[in-house]
Order: sequence, then structure tokens, then C-alpha cells
Amino acid sequence: PTRLLTPEKRGEDVDASLRPQRLDEFVGQAAARANLKVFIEAAKTRGEALDHVLFVGPPGLGKTTLAQIMAKELGVNFRSTSGPVIAKAGDLAALLTNLEERDVLFIDEIHRLSPAVEEILYPAMEDFQLDLIIGEGPAARSVKIDLSRFTLVAATTRIGLLTTPLRDRFGIPVRLNFYTVPELEHIVKRGARLMDLPMGDDGASEIARRARGTPRIAGRLLRRVRDFATMADAPIVDRRIADEALTRLEVDSLGLDQLDRRYLDLIALNFGGGPVGIETIAAALSEPRDAIEDIVEPYLLQQGFIQRTPRGRMMTAHAFKHIGMAVPGGWQG
Ligand code: ADP
Repeated sequence: PTRLLTPEKRGEDVDASLRPQRLDEFVGQAAARANLKVFIEAAKTRGEALDHVLFVGPPGLGKTTLAQIMAKELGVNFRSTSGPVIAKAGDLAALLTNLEERDVLFIDEIHRLSPAVEEILYPAMEDFQLDLIIGEGPAARSVKIDLSRFTLVAATTRIGLLTTPLRDRFGIPVRLNFYTVPELEHIVKRGARLMDLPMGDDGASEIARRARGTPRIAGRLLRRVRDFATMADAPIVDRRIADEALTRLEVDSLGLDQLDRRYLDLIALNFGGGPVGIETIAAALSEPRDAIEDIVEPYLLQQGFIQRTPRGRMMTAHAFKHIGMAVPGGWQG
């Protein structure tokens, strides 16, 4: 999907320019940040590699950014790859053997590693050793290669898709949550400063309220609002300019976009508000189930628009009201 609000990464990484470089510049996620700070300082004091870290949370909340920051704070190299990119065990072996002591290896979307690659990763994480089979048939032999003591920093949107042995090998699991509006305001103002864009408090708060709790979306909205302000020749981004731009982009007052509304309309109109199974929803919307579970639902759940029940997704009374429909009599959701 190429909707504006898709918090997934895109090829042209425009995000990079707004990325905070240091832990102190990173806004929000206070608990995670405080813990990481302690672990980083402790590892540095002891001169050891940091324990392996697993970031869990919806796309666009800062997992990659934090991984990069950790390498900077530790003063080590940052190497980056992602689950779907590592096709063969040999690809991972090549990455691992090139790491120096205490380096950070970042694997995004680690839930998408193939089982054969995962097998290689276990001894690498645990004993800093590679167990490789070289050759085939009767001539095959196994070799062990020592690796530098590195830190694996991994990210996933879906902890439930990780195998238990893999999950258990991370000493530091960190869950990232949606950002509050004041935190996003801070991020929007910082972004505007970096872009030399005059930003009013009311303009920043309007963008923040409609950013779906997600810094990456705040950055995207900010860029589109800037285009709009430029064309309107506005001296400063105030609430009116921000609202006009975001309304044109079909981002509603709570940050829901077209796909969110299609999702809610579908459940309300075709399934009486639910419960309805995720497969049925995905088929009816012609969207991959993963995208719906990773991108659409977490925010709707967090905002109290839907509930997950054993029989499927159900809308809440709040959701009916938001899409301008009467709540059915006796509604329990
Ligand atoms: P993820 O890896 O979780 O999908 P990223 O780390 O790529 O998310 O973050 C997306 C973008 O959002 C970053 O490039 C950065 O511009 C912005 N961002 C994320 N977290 C923060 C934050 N705490 N403060 C400021 N900007 C942030």
C-alpha cells in the first residue's frame, strides 16, 4: 500500500535527516531509554559487549533509530540487515565473520528469518561461534569458527512470530509504545527546526494529534504540511494551515486515514460491527493480513476503536460514533 500514513519504510529514506543521533536527543520511550542508558554505561565500564537487545513494536516507533544510537553511544561499528534479505546461512556467516569486537549487528524484521539461518544464529548469539557444514555427502565436515563478541540488536513488529529459542536468547527485550501527543509535538517542533520551517505551537499540536502515535508519520505529515505552507505562502504553520493540509490528505481529526476508515466501515456496514475474523477482513479489503495486523490494528486497538475477541474483531461504541454511525441498541463492545 502506498498510502501516506503507511508507517513502513520506503526506498527513499527521507526519515534519515530527522533521526536523533544521541540517546539524550531521543524523545519519548522514557522507561526504555533509562534502562538502555544503564546497560550501555555498564557495558562500557566493563569493556564488554552489550547483551543482545530485542526491540518490539509497530513500525515507525524508532527501533532502527535506537539501534543506531546504541552503536554510537557504545562507540562501535553499526552493521545493518534485515530478516528477508538474509537468504542463505552463508549470507549471515559472512556478516558475522566481518564483525569486530563489541560491534552492533542490527537485524530488522527478525521474525522473517528462515529456519536455516536461525540455526546459524543460535550458537553465534550464545557462544560467539559459527557451526558450518562445508562440502556435501561423505566429504562434508563441520567446522567451528570463533566470532568477535558482538551485540545483536534485532527488531520485530510481531513478537508472536518469533520462535521461543530465538526469543530466549535476547538478554534485553524492549517494548516500544505509541507516543503521546506532547511527545509528538516535541518531535514535530524539532523536525520543523531542522527544516527551517516556522512552526506555531497550535500547528505543531495539530500535526501531533493526527500522527497516529508514530514519529515516522509525524515526519511525513510535517513534510506535506510544509509543501502546503509553501504553496499558500504562509509565514508560519498555524492550526489552520496544518488542518487544511491534513484534511486534504484525508487524515481525520484523530489521525485515521483512508485504510483505517475502510476497515471500520467494512466491519460496521458488512458485519454489523463484528465479531469478524481477520482473514475475512483482509480478503474483503484486498490487503495482506500482515499489513492489517502490523499497521492498521495496533493503533485502532490502542485508541479503543476495536477489541480482539476469541471470535474475531469487534468495534466499540466509540468507533461507531467516530465514523458517524448510530451505536446499535444494547451494544456490548
Ligand atoms: P522503526 O525502525 O521502528 O520502524 P525508525 O527508527 O526507522 O522506526 O524511525 C522512523 C523515523 O521516525 C526516524 O527516521 C526518525 O526520523 C523518527 N523518529 C523515530 N523515533 C523518534 C524519536 N524518539 N524522536 C524523534 N524522531 C524519531
